[in-house]
Amino acid sequence: MLILLGAPGAGKGTHAKRLSVLLGIPHISTGDIFREEMSKNSALGLEVKRYVEKGELVPDELVNQIVRRRLSQEDCRNGFILDGYPRTLQQAEALDSILKELSLPLKKVVNLVVSEDDIIRRLSGRRICRNCGAIFHIVNMPPKVEGVCDYCGGELYQREDDKPEAIRHRLAVYHQQTEPLIRYYKDKGLLVDVNCEVPLEQSVAEIMKLLKDDKN
Ligand code: AMP
Repeated sequence: MLILLGAPGAGKGTHAKRLSVLLGIPHISTGDIFREEMSKNSALGLEVKRYVEKGELVPDELVNQIVRRRLSQEDCRNGFILDGYPRTLQQAEALDSILKELSLPLKKVVNLVVSEDDIIRRLSGRRICRNCGAIFHIVNMPPKVEGVCDYCGGELYQREDDKPEAIRHRLAVYHQQTEPLIRYYKDKGLLVDVNCEVPLEQSVAEIMKLLKDDKN
């Protein structure tokens, strides 16, 4: 079980997608779960929309409940990658008890490190496929055809919370609520920092090596 920590835009989703394929374990992103529910206009989607679009955190109780349900599913028995959860100390404590209940050990917490300037550049240029969720960047990772997904031909869009006002707010929320988790997992001896201001292949390879070294 692996947690990816890091500021919004540090590359949690991109790394998690790649690692999920390499390790053959599911990628669980609370943000993706909420966006999917919002696009379906489900009751949950309507409930979380007002938080997500403004870059506010969804209440802990609700997020913990969703994660508990997801981690209880069969495909998580052999491991999973958490992206975007936990985001508060309360969630980290809830996760500890969920993992204990399900007898699933936490192996590593990888903190993806990127400078604040780079984060703003990455978030403001990010585009997502409405159909398959693939992530592009208008400068760093442009699609072959503007506005069209390379993988499925779906339409690319900019997340509402990747607009400047929401980005500023998300970063403030990150510093206030999520950064304390670095200390929390450091104290448990689980945290490793990985520099993500390098090409994706390089940071992915570093994480794979860390996980392999851990097994030996
Ligand atoms: P993300 O895709 O991880 O950047 O998440 C997008 C948005 O979903 C966040 O800005 C929050 O509004 C909400 N969200 C995702 N994960 C959590 C979480 N663990 N706790 C609270 N809100 C969350």
